[in-house]
Amino acid sequence: MSDQKIKNMIRGAIRRSWTYYDAVRKKAIEEATVRIPIKNAKGDNSGRFSEFVRCAHCQELFRKSEIDVDHKVPVGKGFGWPPGDDLLDWVKRLFVTEHEVLQCLCSDCHRVKTKEERQRGKRKPSDGL
Ligand SMILES: [Zn+2]
Repeated sequence: MSDQKIKNMIRGAIRRSWTYYDAVRKKAIEEATVRIPIKNAKGDNSGRFSEFVRCAHCQELFRKSEIDVDHKVPVGKGFGWPPGDDLLDWVKRLFVTEHEVLQCLCSDCHRVKTKEERQRGKRKPSDGL
């Protein structure tokens, strides 16, 4: 197995574990949540609400399942090989403790942002492997 493949596996595993690092992500989603009253048949408020999450970029409302939590400032491509202190720095940028550095994006906006970040990143030779 190539070093690049090993590095990608490690990076992927750490990124996936962030998905389960829930408290800070939940707080970011909560902050972007909009509650819309559900009307009853007569057109009055039923006292119940539908919850949607506002995309920080396009400002449209989405269901929670359609939202990605994103780092406003990209955490970067990861770390060099063999990993040194840069691995620790990258993990610290990924596992943030302040929800303010996160934002909720719809899948489309997240895809566009990630693509732009990758293209920008490609021009930086300092990112290691
Ligand atoms: Zn969007």
